[in-house]
Amino acid sequence: MDRRHSLKLLAGAALAPAAMTTLGLGPAFAQAPAAAPAPAAPAGPFKLPDLGYAYEALEPNIDAQTMTIHHQRHHGAYVNNLNTLSANAPVLTAKPIEAVLADLTAVPETARQAVRNNLGGHWNHTFFWDLMTPGGAKEPGGDLKSAIDAELGGFQKVREQVTALGMGRFGSGWSWLAVNKDKKLQIVSSLNQDNPLMDGARGAVVGVDVWEHAYYLKYQNRRNEYIAAWWNTVNWDKASANYKKAIA
Ligand code: MN
Repeated sequence: MDRRHSLKLLAGAALAPAAMTTLGLGPAFAQAPAAAPAPAAPAGPFKLPDLGYAYEALEPNIDAQTMTIHHQRHHGAYVNNLNTLSANAPVLTAKPIEAVLADLTAVPETARQAVRNNLGGHWNHTFFWDLMTPGGAKEPGGDLKSAIDAELGGFQKVREQVTALGMGRFGSGWSWLAVNKDKKLQIVSSLNQDNPLMDGARGAVVGVDVWEHAYYLKYQNRRNEYIAAWWNTVNWDKASANYKKAIA
């Protein structure tokens, strides 16, 4: 047993109710949680970003409870995991997140899958929160609309294809409108917390989370209804900014 593992076990034992009883600990410990929590992750360097709107702001398309749990617990877990990982993988903070995701081979092999999952999860969710807004435009505009019309046959086709790949993603993943290495728009889906940056894309324009945790409380197994409602939340100004940055 290595030292870290030993410390983890000790930390757990110290908080266990049985240990408190045996040791006769006094009222100062009475408010300790009944179940021994996992050891707290370091508070940084990664931080859970604010949504930029209230948890209920996207109702009725996405409900407040789903948003709260998705943001605080799911995204929060990726952030906590990264803060634990970063102690042993300095590459995580040595360059921008996008650069790490674009070259996962630079991450030590022992940490690579964990970085892929958790840094991917952190980037994807930060992107996702920023891509949604209450009361946004219904369709893309400006240069993004022009590019969609010219390269992909218009917004309705993009909407249909992003939806189809999201529906076709077995298990957990994402469906994306991205800008490939040749600065062309493309529609792709990814598994788990993978994203187009890991496949050499210059950037993502739009992306929808099709993990069950993104919709199950309100839509249960009806992923199609969730994706249809999700389109109502897209912040097309942000999507345009994503496109502009990706082709720059
Ligand atoms: Mn998610």
